[in-house]
Amino acid sequence: MTAVRLHDKEDIRVEEVDVPDIGDEELLVRVSSGFICGTDLRMFKHGHASAGDGKSVTLGHELAGTIASVGRSVSGYREEMRVTVDPNMGCGVCDMCVGGNTQLCPELKAIGIHLDGGFAEYVRIPRAAVLQGNVAVLPDSVSFEEAALVEPLSCVLNAAERCYTQPGDVVLVIGAGPIGIMHGKIHRMLGAGRILIHDLSESRLQMCRSLEPDFETVGPDKLREAVAEATGGQGVDVCITAAPSPEAQAEALELMAVNGRLMLFGGLPKDRQIVSMNNNLIHYRQIVVTGTTRQNLRQYRACLDLIAKRTISVGDLITHRYALSEAATAFENAGSQVGLKLGFSAGG
Ligand SMILES: [Zn+2]
Ligand SMILES: [Zn+2]
Repeated sequence: MTAVRLHDKEDIRVEEVDVPDIGDEELLVRVSSGFICGTDLRMFKHGHASAGDGKSVTLGHELAGTIASVGRSVSGYREEMRVTVDPNMGCGVCDMCVGGNTQLCPELKAIGIHLDGGFAEYVRIPRAAVLQGNVAVLPDSVSFEEAALVEPLSCVLNAAERCYTQPGDVVLVIGAGPIGIMHGKIHRMLGAGRILIHDLSESRLQMCRSLEPDFETVGPDKLREAVAEATGGQGVDVCITAAPSPEAQAEALELMAVNGRLMLFGGLPKDRQIVSMNNNLIHYRQIVVTGTTRQNLRQYRACLDLIAKRTISVGDLITHRYALSEAATAFENAGSQVGLKLGFSAGG
């Protein structure tokens, strides 16, 4: 089968490899859709422990497809079921796992990061993922493409749950990429009164406007003004930083209202993770500064349900579809912010 494998920093190869063997407690999924996310781009640009020194890994952790074969001891799943798979697996017995947060397990392993992923014709779903409930069966109304986007959407839902958004809140999203737009969509669903979305790239803002005309896009150098205007000088109730920028984090703090919630969603490059901020603002304005990473399985299933019920749309974020053989172009375009969501899919 064809697979897109990371061999080292900036060394990605389309290769012919064997279809994976599965154990008695595992599943084999024939992949229909897999999308590129910021994590894939980071692994490609900066390398990862799973690749290099003779090791390589098939990328792809946002995926959906059809069960092609079922291990002998697996119950609850059958061949030809349409599924999406939460990529994060825990050890199953630590306090985090038992508490329902396998994604925070110290022994975390993820499909497409530590284990071979979904940018391939087939992907092996390991025992832990099967037993922990990572494999979600798709309602007929959900396409493979929408299902593959449950993963990023559920990361965004995890963040939104910690923003305690109230009806009418003014919400600022910094970063108008696909994740930033998902944050806007989720906060609109939660009742936000106004959604401001800021980016340095005019083309990204344009794409955002055409997709979500009710979001108020704010370009470079206009952010303070726009926030003052939208809030009568009070500051925003919620701000989400969906960009890997220390400057954006520091500026966001200054734009918060009293009792505001600042969500640091986008991680920072390792060499820039110490940020100088006016911490007196946190003190005198009682601002909650928080962050999240990944999603738990409840949030994963909840997002599949939101998509199935058409409470939220994600398919409209997809702008580019490639064959696996075009991986080099796909990664180059995703890395230079062409379009919004790019991936490997035949559509549907
Ligand atoms: Zn991702
Ligand atoms: Zn664990």
